Amino acid sequence: MPTNPYKQMMFTRNLYRFETEYFLQDGKAWTHIVKQRSLRSLRQTLIRVWGDLRPCTPMPILCFGKGVGGLSWFQEGRIVLAPGQRDLLTLLHEIVHALGYGHHNVPFVKAYFKLLSKYGKVPLRVLRRGAADYNVALK
Ligand SMILES: [Zn+2]
Repeated sequence: MPTNPYKQMMFTRNLYRFETEYFLQDGKAWTHIVKQRSLRSLRQTLIRVWGDLRPCTPMPILCFGKGVGGLSWFQEGRIVLAPGQRDLLTLLHEIVHALGYGHHNVPFVKAYFKLLSKYGKVPLRVLRRGAADYNVALK
């Protein structure tokens, strides 16, 4: 698990590159996870995930907002999705934070990939290939 700030920063950088580039390649097969959706549709996904996982923390409030520096965020029980990030990919990323994974590290990516395969319908083999392409560590 990266603990030093430099490793943490590199991990985050690689993860963001993977998220912003990988799913737009591959013959656009995975564009459904980056397609912009309504708040209602994304809330339904959040409710489904929370209902399935039943974590002991309360379900976060989901809203659309400006974001911070154009990025979506999770904090204190609230997920705010920024313009251009109102998609399954970003929602599931923020849900992983809401589940208690504070940093972008190996446990985060493992939990994220589980959600992406189940709720984003991206096969794990595709996610693993992308992780390898973008140096996103899985162990
Ligand atoms: Zn994050």
